[in-house]
Amino acid sequence: MKTENLFAQKNVGVICVVDHASIHRSDRRAIRSYPSVIVPALHKTTLANGSLLGRSIIVVLAMLGGILQANHCTAEDPLTVVADFEGASVGDILVDDVARCVSFMPGGDPQRGWPCWWYFRVDGIKPNEAIALRLRGSTATVEKKKPLAASWAMPKRATYSIDGVTWLHTDEGKRDGQWMIYTLTPNAASVYVAWGPPYTPQTAEVFVDAMAAKSPHAEATELCRSREGRAVPMLYVREGELETEKRFGVWVQARQHAWESGSSWVAQGFGEWLVSDDANAAWLRQHAEVFLIPIMDVDNTATGNGGKNAVPHDHNRDWSPQPHWNEIMAAQRRIGDLVGDGRMDVFLDLHNPGPGDTSFFYVLPRDMLSEPMLSLRDRFIDLAYTRISKMKPLIPMSNKPRVTGSNYHPLWRQISSNWVSMNGNPHTVSLCLETVWNSENSTTAGYRAVGANLAAAVQEYLAERPEKP
Ligand SMILES: [Zn+2]
Repeated sequence: MKTENLFAQKNVGVICVVDHASIHRSDRRAIRSYPSVIVPALHKTTLANGSLLGRSIIVVLAMLGGILQANHCTAEDPLTVVADFEGASVGDILVDDVARCVSFMPGGDPQRGWPCWWYFRVDGIKPNEAIALRLRGSTATVEKKKPLAASWAMPKRATYSIDGVTWLHTDEGKRDGQWMIYTLTPNAASVYVAWGPPYTPQTAEVFVDAMAAKSPHAEATELCRSREGRAVPMLYVREGELETEKRFGVWVQARQHAWESGSSWVAQGFGEWLVSDDANAAWLRQHAEVFLIPIMDVDNTATGNGGKNAVPHDHNRDWSPQPHWNEIMAAQRRIGDLVGDGRMDVFLDLHNPGPGDTSFFYVLPRDMLSEPMLSLRDRFIDLAYTRISKMKPLIPMSNKPRVTGSNYHPLWRQISSNWVSMNGNPHTVSLCLETVWNSENSTTAGYRAVGANLAAAVQEYLAERPEKP
């Protein structure tokens, strides 16, 4: 049996790998009483690290029926990998307890989107010790397609956290053939590690609740329930007595692609600025009503799946007359109301781009749009680019938008920002912002700063617009 087959493509529960020699006799018996989950020795072909060969290692997989808890691994200081929490994802795990190294690939069901997201916890770390994370691209495939390029899963720097709240970058990883190796010294018994700063449905709920507690003008509400019954948290912001018909309509959504966690932090930064004491934020609250959804695809985000290109199609290919996903149905209904009122002023869909990309906007080809939409769109891009590109520390951004027309994707009409452009008001500005994820400033602070600057650009743009009649 190849260990690859045993481990592959699972979002695992708990895996404990211990050095055989260091296990007490009684513990060995305890582990051996679960023969179906023991791999007596690592298969040669699964090892890229030659130093492991010949070492007697027992792999215990507790995900099958949750037989074994992490604390039953009683070898001295075994490293354990835990992935039984919201948003976690990891596959094909091998732990070398002597080298203090965890080898893995992203987990996730490829039917539920690109398997490039990874997020798990490592327990059993000693004080001052360095551990290594050895990451390779997922080998999971859909039908006979080639596996996803490993670069999507391999940030230059991995993200880690001791408390699950403050997220830091590791030093740059080092490539070694198919592997990317990150080294870190967490100085804590446990460390969370991830592709980028995680942002789960629970994070979104905590965020909208915090904004509502902070500001009487912010309401924590729900867009809808997902197909799997999860709440889709939404922040709704408006201040003062101005009638609804006279307010600008502003819609901001992130995470139609679940693996793109950075985009949710951009959305959070937008919301934080919006409820802040900044005089321009107050103006925006008083002249607009703002709908902000930090996570659209809550189900794939909660389950650690990639989301992008999910079957039958992902959230950002679902903006058709008959949407498959509840979130799109609900968003279309509310946006349709804004369009009906002539108030669909600014629609922003937030994403993270390819591994080598800087930040940029996606737009429809110029020849598909007419005035005033075209000039207003260019004006908004100019205002946003001017702010975001001047941020310190730098978030690299291109001032050249890219085009998502008929040559981009067969379902291009069902991409949200295109759909809103084509079904909006003549003055609607509808854009997709891709925020760079593979830079040293692609951190929670960097992403939130992008969001704050984007929100300030929305205010600046709307302040130039005539009042609603
Ligand atoms: Zn995306």
